[in-house]
Amino acid sequence: MTAPTATISGVAKRYGIVQAVKDVTFELNEGETVALVGHNGAGKTTLIKLMLGLIRPSAGNVLVLGEDPAKGDFEVRRRLGYLPESVSFHMALTGRETLAFYARLKRVEVSVVPELLERVGLAAVAADRPVRTYSKGMRQRLGLAQALLGQPRVLLLDEPTSGLDPALRRRFYDILGELRSAGTTILLSSHALTELEGRANRVVIVNEGVKVADGSLETLRTLAHLPTRVSVKLAGGGSPVDWKFGSGWRKTGVDTVETEVTVEDKVALLREVTANPAEVAGVHLVEPTLDDLYAHFLGGRKAAE
Ligand code: ATP
Repeated sequence: MTAPTATISGVAKRYGIVQAVKDVTFELNEGETVALVGHNGAGKTTLIKLMLGLIRPSAGNVLVLGEDPAKGDFEVRRRLGYLPESVSFHMALTGRETLAFYARLKRVEVSVVPELLERVGLAAVAADRPVRTYSKGMRQRLGLAQALLGQPRVLLLDEPTSGLDPALRRRFYDILGELRSAGTTILLSSHALTELEGRANRVVIVNEGVKVADGSLETLRTLAHLPTRVSVKLAGGGSPVDWKFGSGWRKTGVDTVETEVTVEDKVALLREVTANPAEVAGVHLVEPTLDDLYAHFLGGRKAAE
């Protein structure tokens, strides 16, 4: 197994009397897409800034690509990509000029600029217009192109899809998928939990500076022990009144019944339901969503979209 691309060990960060991050430990690995989620003020941006070396921890250690990012080693920084929560560029420069400027800063060949503009869908016409004429989504795309300069091994994205329309969000996640296949580590902070399902391999939940959960959706589901909803459509217009699988079932329609089952009992229940296939027209399972898991780990607080 390869070494982690980032290691956060027992990290705390205090701003005056505000304890923004408290004893947080996690690792990021090659090819992983990790979602960092939490309420406003939970400490997400602080963790990202610590990984960028923009601020130093009050306690604990941060290593990115084997180095302390706060030491300011240029070689590490050039292999890090960062998209801040609110991107601000020089309004008078065009998209193309902006990207060329950042390419020089990162000592990346300026010849990559057209291809990157193309990749994020900033067509030639838009690329040669001043940034002040850009919509929020276009600025966000330019921000992403900037973050992709130099083929980063670690990409840190702070609420990257806010302000993007559904089509752009899909394009954005397609690009992340390509990067992931190439082994890039991606950490993205977000409030948009629904869109992270199936897109992040792992979810780290923080609350008031403390890490409260860390794992794949499957792992979090097992840990949370939340029930799966099982909905059954009866065959041949069978009346739910005749449904005899025991207590706990409730009628939800003319020919549909529903119950909830724990992870442990799910298979046994499905076997029971399908024992007589002639009786059943369809079975639909609804697993706990990331929203449900988030609320569970935060003790009932819902995600603020
Ligand atoms: P959001 O979802 O709103 O972006 P966040 O999870 O990114 O929130 P942080 O920006 O990391 O949260 O803030 C964590 C805590 O630290 C908050 O209480 C915030 O007010 C505080 N904080 C952040 N930066 C500073 C600073 N420079 N000086 C003082 N307090 C700060």
